[in-house]
Amino acid sequence: MPTLFEKIIAGDVPATVIFRDSRVVAFLDIRPAAPVHILIVPNKVIPTADDIADEDESLIGHMVIVARDLARQQGIAKNGYRLIINCNPHGGQEVYHLHLHLIGGRPLGPMVARA
Ligand code: AMP
Repeated sequence: MPTLFEKIIAGDVPATVIFRDSRVVAFLDIRPAAPVHILIVPNKVIPTADDIADEDESLIGHMVIVARDLARQQGIAKNGYRLIINCNPHGGQEVYHLHLHLIGGRPLGPMVARA
């Protein structure tokens, strides 16, 4: 069964796509946590960060470069932002297709609530 993000990549589920190239798609998160909340998603099916292969090194680097450029385009680079990859249940992952969250546009507070 294709994941939700595979369906978005294929255009079978609508999303507000703001960037696309041969390796990644970036679209707005449907439930934004901040004024800017973009998901950068590889076209290659990689379920979790734990499934990243050594050969994916340049793809993962490309995702970060795309996030950097989108942050500049969105005007949040100077004030700052957060890049997040959630992995598996303890990481809070909901969609099992690798994605990089770009979140900003307001102060984001501590990275993780301290127990
Ligand atoms: P994660 O918890 O890291 O797996 O993040 C999954 C993200 O996907 C969440 O921030 C959701 O709000 C977002 N999301 C779920 N469904 C959609 C959708 N149809 N379009 C855009 N973002 C979505």
